[in-house]
Amino acid sequence: MSEKTKAQLLAEELFYKKKSAFETMSEEEQKKAFAYADEYADYLYHSKTEREAVATSIAILKDKGYAEYKLGDSIEVGGKYYLNNREKALFAFTVGTEDINNGVRICAAHIDSPRLDLKPNPLFENDGFGYLKTHYYGGIRKYQWPTLPLALHGVVTKKGGETVEVNIGEDAGDPIFMITDLLPHLAREQGKTPLNQAFGGEILNIVIGCAPYMEDGKVADGEAIKLNLMKALNEKYGIVEADFMTAELCAVPAGKPMDIGLDRCLMGAYGHDDKVCGYPALTAMLNNPTDRNTVICVLADKEETGSDGVSGMQCTLLAELIDEIAKALGGNGNICRSNSMCLSADVNAGYDPSYAEVFEKRNAAIVNCGVVMTKYTGSGGKYSTNDAGAEFIGKIRDMFEEDGVLWQSAEMGKIDIGGGGTVAKYVANHNIDTVDLGVPVLSMHAPFEIISKLDLYETYKAFLSFCK
Ligand code: MN
Ligand code: MN
Repeated sequence: MSEKTKAQLLAEELFYKKKSAFETMSEEEQKKAFAYADEYADYLYHSKTEREAVATSIAILKDKGYAEYKLGDSIEVGGKYYLNNREKALFAFTVGTEDINNGVRICAAHIDSPRLDLKPNPLFENDGFGYLKTHYYGGIRKYQWPTLPLALHGVVTKKGGETVEVNIGEDAGDPIFMITDLLPHLAREQGKTPLNQAFGGEILNIVIGCAPYMEDGKVADGEAIKLNLMKALNEKYGIVEADFMTAELCAVPAGKPMDIGLDRCLMGAYGHDDKVCGYPALTAMLNNPTDRNTVICVLADKEETGSDGVSGMQCTLLAELIDEIAKALGGNGNICRSNSMCLSADVNAGYDPSYAEVFEKRNAAIVNCGVVMTKYTGSGGKYSTNDAGAEFIGKIRDMFEEDGVLWQSAEMGKIDIGGGGTVAKYVANHNIDTVDLGVPVLSMHAPFEIISKLDLYETYKAFLSFCK
């Protein structure tokens, strides 16, 4: 082998070169990453909605000795707690030995994902079919949802307050539901419509049946299909039509996460955004090798619709919880928050060679190149974003490099193409240093999104490094 030139040596010393996890991870570590991905897949399958994610997460937390905490309860050093915010958001925390005024470490992910919610009066029949009307939740591309097997998840609160859980379409033998589309033979006109306009919100009606209610061997008068469907729902869940008005029912893609490709390095699933960061955030807190820091794992709702409301991150609950923890330990909430750090654990768009034109490759998140730090999100001239400070992200960088975390830094797409936000700015508004960190995703917000198992594992390692 010929010797390296001076210029080559100098370039090695001075230039940054993005590395791939295939170069940096040992075979042993890749095996661990695959095993971790299997655990994640199971969590994800049982966490399609924020409510389900709260329930599955609490089951894990209880198993690890975490106790339910309500505002005002006592808090002790070494304690492990979780605050269940209305079954839709979760704050799990471990109290460390470090002086609370030195701040807490927060990993904040969201557990809601884009989907189709049912309208308050969803059930109708039309020309031989029974339908449910939907209202899409979050940023979906509507054309992706017809002809897709759908499952119905959610809850119905009946008159008097009893809440029943609904889950149809996941168990073997369950029926699924579907939105229809035109056949290509008759879609010539529809095909000329711009993609964003071809499917309106009001066309996303879900077929849920077609058999009418029969009386004395004859089809009953009136809305016989609707009656038959309502009868089936009544028999299974004890609900009547008016109960839809006090329900939260969601149509989500049916089925389990699946490996993609012969090498099985990629995983496809509904709802990676953002359980693919929520699960590492949760498990990093659980597997934190030290008891020094107070660590809070936030699993938030409503990120996909702007983080508003009592279960979203614009709610003051995070700040109040930190204040309660600080007060209980004899500290000062304002000082504690000012010294706290948060990883806004959320996904970024992975560079997709099939759509290279929307990315600026030098500043894109490359799949299999590790966890991605996103200094700022927003759009245009960095509007509506938390732009993390150099000193703060410098600290994070040192942590990662000390612990051998493969990380990269990226923006989401070319500057004027679009944009998006996360919970980062809402956390930062509480005077907490925050930066976005997470997994690159292909086909983000599609009914079936794709991630790399190695990136998932690097994200877990990143959160572990941050927690300790
Ligand atoms: Mn997200
Ligand atoms: Mn999203």
